Amino acid sequence: MIIVMKPGASREQINAVSERLVELGFKTHPIYGQEKTVIGAIGDKKALSSEAIINLPGVEKIVPIMKPYKLVSRELKDTPTIVRIGGVPVGGRGLVVMAGPCAVEGEEQLLEAARAVKAAGAQVLRGGAFKPRTSPYAFQGLEEKGLKMLARVREEVGLPFITEAVDTRDVPLVAEYADAIQIGARNMQNFRLLQEAGATGKPILLKRGLAATIEEWLMAAEYILDSGNPNVILCERGIRTFETSTRFTLDLAAIAVVKENSHLPVIVDPSHGTGSWRLVLPMARAAVAAGADGLIIEVHPDPARALCYGPQSLHPETFDRLMGELAPVALAVGRGLALNGLFPEQAGTLAAGK
Ligand code: PEP
Ligand code: MN
Repeated sequence: MIIVMKPGASREQINAVSERLVELGFKTHPIYGQEKTVIGAIGDKKALSSEAIINLPGVEKIVPIMKPYKLVSRELKDTPTIVRIGGVPVGGRGLVVMAGPCAVEGEEQLLEAARAVKAAGAQVLRGGAFKPRTSPYAFQGLEEKGLKMLARVREEVGLPFITEAVDTRDVPLVAEYADAIQIGARNMQNFRLLQEAGATGKPILLKRGLAATIEEWLMAAEYILDSGNPNVILCERGIRTFETSTRFTLDLAAIAVVKENSHLPVIVDPSHGTGSWRLVLPMARAAVAAGADGLIIEVHPDPARALCYGPQSLHPETFDRLMGELAPVALAVGRGLALNGLFPEQAGTLAAGK
């Protein structure tokens, strides 16, 4: 349910309504808007006799939330949510590109990738220290050693980083180092992991499951918001279909569906979505044109020697070319793209010596 407060309702009135809702067994989520405050009340609506609330001072009306997901829905919050990863806003006007290797393989590899992606305009470094691999015999990641390398490279290069937690046991360690925690496609419905990662308060990048509907994906995001963490970024990374020409089928319509139904930012991973570096370029452009808030792209200094999915990794030079190709697309859809780490307006300010 959404309790809509009258314009100008006082903080005391809002608090009194929240307290009454809690007494009735609801979890409350006040959202303070410019003109009006609304209170999301999550719980059994049978416990809510509307007279108990509607007659309280400052209450305008009570509106049911029709969707099964509540806190992530646009019905509750119509303004886009902006999630900050180490100071980088995701979900605002600027398009955010996160890039780096699939897996952290060593400090030199990571440093080289980080320097290259930063120079091309990426604002967040990616790199897995814990890897969810299909085969138990494949490289599983450097674990804490990898996290330490990510932290050192962050200092050296000045990019915040995102890295995956594959299990609840890893969450405290990953949270100690990372600026944002990635929940992988294979874990999208690992509800305990969602709750534990959510409880750290860190920004969470929630990848869509390989065979998850958009509604299931949004319900998974609901777990994180319900754990008290509003900082969720959704990531479309391709789903399983009958198509075999690409590794997965990148569902770009999902961006528009998410934007229609949720206030959360949504980014696209064309690397996993296609499995082929050549296809990453056109699909990255398409994702931006379709309204994605950002991209996450695999870049490796030497893709042929990558320990993890070389064929879908871009060489740094190709990544630089991609960033150049994205700029006019971003502009065409009213988004700014940080080139060389700066948004165009910042670059203009610097050029003018201000
Ligand atoms: C990754 O980002 O390297 C990864 C394993 O992604 P996904 O969970 O989407 O397969
Ligand atoms: Mn990968």
